[in-house]
Amino acid sequence: MEKIINTLFPPKCVFCGSIGDIFCENCISNCLLLLEQRCIICDKPSVDGITHEHCYKPGMPTQVLSVFVYGDNVRNCIKKSKYSSRLFMCLKRLSFEGVNLAYEWGYNFKDFVVVSIPVSKEKQKLRGFNQVDVISKSFSKRFNLKINNSLLIRVRDTKSQHSSSRKQRFKNVADSFLSPSNVKGKKVILIDDITTTGATFLEASKVLYQAGAIEVKCFSLSKKL
Ligand SMILES: [Zn+2]
Ligand SMILES: [Zn+2]
Repeated sequence: MEKIINTLFPPKCVFCGSIGDIFCENCISNCLLLLEQRCIICDKPSVDGITHEHCYKPGMPTQVLSVFVYGDNVRNCIKKSKYSSRLFMCLKRLSFEGVNLAYEWGYNFKDFVVVSIPVSKEKQKLRGFNQVDVISKSFSKRFNLKINNSLLIRVRDTKSQHSSSRKQRFKNVADSFLSPSNVKGKKVILIDDITTTGATFLEASKVLYQAGAIEVKCFSLSKKL
């Protein structure tokens, strides 16, 4: 069906207007890649985004991987995908590309279960979906992993984090999540669209470990520098 529609009405790139793709190859290749991964705790460079040994404490993710730098088209695409179906298709396209890159860079998440960071109930109700799921779907397909979004539930809505300080962000996300006991013994790869201070990943990870997860890693499509 999508193919027939695309033949009859070829998509136009949202960003440059060229015909053929909703987010054309040229515009995607102009998106900045995060070539140097960082440690979630100290935010300093670390090989493959692995949490430094001296930074790591139990309950923390062992690794965080991001593909794009949050800016320009990546920002537009992620920010607006929640409100427009055309931009949602762009996010789908960008996710596909980002996940593919992570795969080509040689990352491996064998035996991990994919879990989306849940959006607030209010937002889910408003939009009817969690836009992070589109990234999770691409990820699980490419890395051949199962998705299980019932392993992490949002129990408290967080305030918008855009203008808050680092300290405030950590306070905002505290006690936001709950994880049921069937996470016991599982390895989880958490998925989000943007990571800034890592506060959301850290809080979700803590909850998953408390419920019995044996390892938590994180993947975010983009990182705000
Ligand atoms: Zn374009
Ligand atoms: Zn560190």
